[in-house]
Amino acid sequence: MNIPFVDLKRQYKAYKKEIDAQIREVIASSAFIMGEKIRELEQRLAEFTGTKYAAGCSSGTDALVLALAALDLRPGDEVITTPFSFIATSEAIAFLKAKPVFVDIDAQTFNIDPDKIPAAITDRTRGIIAVDLFGQCADYDAINAIARDHNLFVIEDAAQSFGARYKGRPACSLATVACTSFFPAKPLGCFGDGGMVFTDNEKLYTIIASLRAHGMGTDKYNHVRIGFNARLDTLQAGILLAKFNHFKNEIKQRNAAARYYTKYLDGCVTTPVLLEQNVSVFAQYSILAKDRDKLQQHLKGKGIPTAVHYPQPLHTQTAFSYLGYKKGDFPVAEQTCNSILALPMHAHLTRGEQDHIIKAIKSFYKR
Ligand SMILES: *Cc1c(COP(=O)(O)O)cnc(C)c1O
Repeated sequence: MNIPFVDLKRQYKAYKKEIDAQIREVIASSAFIMGEKIRELEQRLAEFTGTKYAAGCSSGTDALVLALAALDLRPGDEVITTPFSFIATSEAIAFLKAKPVFVDIDAQTFNIDPDKIPAAITDRTRGIIAVDLFGQCADYDAINAIARDHNLFVIEDAAQSFGARYKGRPACSLATVACTSFFPAKPLGCFGDGGMVFTDNEKLYTIIASLRAHGMGTDKYNHVRIGFNARLDTLQAGILLAKFNHFKNEIKQRNAAARYYTKYLDGCVTTPVLLEQNVSVFAQYSILAKDRDKLQQHLKGKGIPTAVHYPQPLHTQTAFSYLGYKKGDFPVAEQTCNSILALPMHAHLTRGEQDHIIKAIKSFYKR
């Protein structure tokens, strides 16, 4: 049995008619940049996330850069974030010449530990970027309370959590601004790069919408600020509109697959901890496994692909060596990097495939 890690072909086959119709429509109209489909997608996703404004953009990374730029992040400003994430989160901060300040994670959820945030706040701190890792929201009530006390902004990096819930509230509505990604392998993915920024703040939205289109104002050729080109392609918006019709159902399927893994793997490996207050979208189903690298090889030999998100924390990566962190600074993140392992996870995974994976993991530990 050869199992794909994320089966995008199977998903395309399932929705092919609708996706192809959207693509044909965009091509027939020749309206490839912005236009009605972008507005329709923004409206539908704003409604879905319970936010007032949504701005499509070119990627999750650009969503973060747009949000930080709109918040007027300046060189030398500090932004607190997690060392256990994809590099884009801290990269966006550093790209704007501000300083990422890392705070260790919670050992159960792998999200930033709010209790450790206050000690990292200085008089240069401007804000906090929390990441909803693997599809489970960070603890925003605690994070927002700290931010209020110190007059900081909060950005929700919801690249992995679009569709998730926290205490009944939707992901992307939990902070000053939220950023998501439509990278193909994310829970709601397009056929290339894409992203979206969400906020209730009209002023921030106006700046973000302007920044993504060269600093455009209401008068097309009088640019009111320095921006860049970070628009979402209309073709991608069409593809997302087709896929979004099935998204609620896909969230249910992902959760059912996660429950099935947990039911049969619990006790054999450390299965993901989902807090009662959270509904995850399981962007990843990540276990903590003893002898992780050997298990990964064993599974590979049985046609089962796995992934390590993430093998190295951000504070020890070469690009951030100038920050002066060292090994041992964030022990929870570092330990997690050594045993984390993501199993195949997507809405179209079959129970037969999962049985094969579960059996292979169990056989490894019985040796
Ligand atoms: C994927 C991801 C991003 C970046 O999104 P892109 O669309 O690939 O630029 C940012 N943050 C996190 C946590 C991610 O997983």
